[in-house]
Amino acid sequence: MNSHRIVIVGGGFGGLQAALGLKRADVEITLIDRRNFHLFQPLTYQVATGALSPGEVAYPLRAVFKRDRNVSVLLAEVADFDLERREVILRSVDGLPAPEPVPYDTLIVAGGSHYSYFGHDEWSAHAAEVKSLESALTVRSRILAAALGDMGFHPETHAVLGMLADKDIRGVIDATRSRVDRWHVAPLPGPRGAPASLLVEHLHAAGIPDAAVRRYDSIDSAFRGARSAVGETDRIVTFGSFLTVAAALTAHRPAPVRTKQTSHG
Ligand SMILES: Cc1cc2nc3c(=O)[nH]c(=O)nc-3n(C[C@H](O)[C@H](O)[C@H](O)COP(=O)(O)OP(=O)(O)OC[C@H]3O[C@@H](n4cnc5c(N)ncnc54)[C@H](O)[C@@H]3O)c2cc1C
Repeated sequence: MNSHRIVIVGGGFGGLQAALGLKRADVEITLIDRRNFHLFQPLTYQVATGALSPGEVAYPLRAVFKRDRNVSVLLAEVADFDLERREVILRSVDGLPAPEPVPYDTLIVAGGSHYSYFGHDEWSAHAAEVKSLESALTVRSRILAAALGDMGFHPETHAVLGMLADKDIRGVIDATRSRVDRWHVAPLPGPRGAPASLLVEHLHAAGIPDAAVRRYDSIDSAFRGARSAVGETDRIVTFGSFLTVAAALTAHRPAPVRTKQTSHG
C-alpha cells in the first residue's frame, strides 16, 4: 500500500503537534529535526538561571512516537527543498552520515524562528537568546560568572570543569574565563561526555595558557586535585554539567561516621 507521505520539518511546538494530530490518519510521517529532542522553550530560562537541568525541559522525539509505526523520526538538518522533485535535502548532524533526500507528498515546515534585534545584531552579544538548550547553558555560565564577581575577594578561583561534548564548550569558557585562574578539567563518562583533551583544546583556543590547566581522568580526581591546590582563602567552582556537580558533590561528601556497636548484656 502506498500511503500519503508527509514530511514535517521541526519537532518543536508546531511540528510535534502536527505529527501528534496526524499520526492516526492513513499517512506515513517523517519528522525531521537537527536535535533528537523536543525542547520545551517556555522553560529554557529556568535552565539559564540554574533552576532546572536540561533534561527536565527536553524530551527525546523518538520516545514520543515509539508506539507509532507510521511515524519515523530522522536526526538531520534540512539544507534545502527541491520543490520540483518534492524532496527535502538533508545535511548531517553530530558526525552521522547525511541521510538521502526524503520525498514527500505533503510538506509541513515548522522550523521555528530567530530572535530579532531590530537591525542591531551587535546587541546579541549583550542580550543572548534562550531559544535553544545550548544558548540557555551559555547564559547560565554568564550568570554564574556575574555571581562569582559579586562574592567578595578570593585570591584565586579554581574551576572544576566537565561537559557534554554536544554543549557549547567554548561559550561556557568564554563566559567564565574572567573569573577563573586555574582550570581542572576531566571527562564525563558515557558516549556524550567530552574527553578532557577536547576541553583542553577549547581552553587553549580561548587563549588560556597551558600552565593554568590541569587534566585528570575523572571529576572525582579533578575535584581532589583542586582541593589540594587551593590556598585557604581561594575558592573552587564546579560547573559545566549537572553530572560534573553531582560527581564533585560525591567526592566532597565526608565519609560516613562508623559507630562501633557494643553489646551490654
Ligand atoms: C523563554 C521562552 C518562553 C516562552 N514562553 C511561552 C509561553 O509561556 N507560552 C507560549 O505559548 N509560548 C511561549 N514561548 C514561545 C514558544 O516556545 C514558541 O512560540 C514555540 O516554541 C514555537 O514553535 P515552533 O514549532 O514554531 O518552533 P520551535 O519550537 O522553535 O521548533 C523548531 C524546531 O525546528 C528545528 N529546526 C529548525 N531548523 C531546522 C533545520 N534546518 N533542520 C532540522 N530541524 C530544524 C529546531 O531544532 C526545533 O526543534 C516562549 C519562548 C521562549 C524562548
